[in-house]
Amino acid sequence: MKNKKVKRQWLLCPVCRNKTRLQIRSDTELKSFPLFCPKCKQESLINVKQFNVSVIKEPDAKTQSR
Ligand SMILES: [Zn+2]
Repeated sequence: MKNKKVKRQWLLCPVCRNKTRLQIRSDTELKSFPLFCPKCKQESLINVKQFNVSVIKEPDAKTQSR
């Protein structure tokens, strides 16, 4: 077996920048994931791909193209 180490990092809250209780891996992909932060108790919708976390800012679940 090859000892290929998969990188992990903590998922940070986009609001207060604290660590949440979730970890993502380099191959983790999330789409419209409701990330709940236990610190500021806010929920953020995020996309994650290859450690790139982007916050989805939408008032509703409605998708609006600009
Ligand atoms: Zn937070």
